[in-house]
Amino acid sequence: MEKNRILLSLAHMGGTEQKWVDEAFKDNWIVPLGPNVDEFEIRLKKYLEAPKVVALSAGTAAIHLGLVMLGVSKDDEVICQSFTFSASANPICYQGAKPVFVDSEPDTWNMCPIALEKAIIDRYKVTGKYPKAILPVHLYGMPAKMDEIKTVADKYGIPILEDAAEALGSEYKGVKCGTIGDYGALSFNGNKVITTSGGGALICPSEEAGKRVTFYATQARENRPYYYHEVIGYNYRLSNVSAGIGCGQMDVLEEHVARRREIHSLYAEGLKNLDNIIVFDNPSKDYDSNFWLTTILIDPKCGITPDEVRIALNEENIETRLLWRPMHMQPIYKDAPYYGSDVCEKLFEQGLCLPSGSSLTDEDIKRVIEALRKALK
Ligand SMILES: *Cc1c(COP(=O)(O)O)cnc(C)c1O
Repeated sequence: MEKNRILLSLAHMGGTEQKWVDEAFKDNWIVPLGPNVDEFEIRLKKYLEAPKVVALSAGTAAIHLGLVMLGVSKDDEVICQSFTFSASANPICYQGAKPVFVDSEPDTWNMCPIALEKAIIDRYKVTGKYPKAILPVHLYGMPAKMDEIKTVADKYGIPILEDAAEALGSEYKGVKCGTIGDYGALSFNGNKVITTSGGGALICPSEEAGKRVTFYATQARENRPYYYHEVIGYNYRLSNVSAGIGCGQMDVLEEHVARRREIHSLYAEGLKNLDNIIVFDNPSKDYDSNFWLTTILIDPKCGITPDEVRIALNEENIETRLLWRPMHMQPIYKDAPYYGSDVCEKLFEQGLCLPSGSSLTDEDIKRVIEALRKALK
């Protein structure tokens, strides 16, 4: 019998989302503002213990407006983690600025603070000025080494924009990811920890900054009786319908994060006797990943590549995915400066993401573990 397909990470509704969406219809609030948007922002702010959160149409939009708020513009450089999804880096180009990529370190797989400082010093030598912003990513939900990154950033007076798109619910030393740097971006795309079908948010350092972000996100319309614009604006607000889904998702956020962590534990337990596999884990008690995706490294000495494992599992109707291909290895960024060694290249060569959606059952996880055992035999 054909087994049902196990997917990497699916949208997982809690049950109350429809109610909020129905309210929007009932009151005819089918626009990019309204009571659901306000409520969603309040719930996010409370959960994150952040000064202000602005709901936006995508995580990519959040990163873009974070860069706008930090004054990134043409001829500026922004230091970005190379090991990430292209949506972290592309908004740097939207601003006409140039990305400078930095390697990862092996504990968190995220921005290496040593390579970061090397990059800052060298960019100063080359361009005569410091990069305008630093963009670390909490990839797969794992917090980056924020203390070390902040120390370097503060030393040179460069602000930090955290890409926490995959890290809603993750904590670094008891503080929520996305609230550590100057700004933090979240994503509510369909495959993330919670979803609004599509959406994002920018975590802001103050109410004042949040007001400015909302202003940019609604076409930068000045307060006059006619449409009047002093700066370039964007159409980045989240719709009231989507925000309704987000309000409902906030009811189950903690539950869903707990389930992703549980799934990670099931994998760690089930795969611990397999010599050729390392299940990526929190490097110490300072790190508390949401385990958006559980990831593994496959020892190259075993003679089976991650892509061969992916194909073998696909035949068992199980979806897995290779890790993000680093940005400095992408054709679009082949000419961008890169600092570090081959840490993220090695991770890309050896890693695999396992199905980790919070709606997966213990039986599903068992099936993945069995399929991995078979593939690696
Ligand atoms: C998903 C994601 C984004 C972009 O979010 P969207 O809501 O899809 O625009 C940015 N960075 C990372 C690391 C992501 O995983």
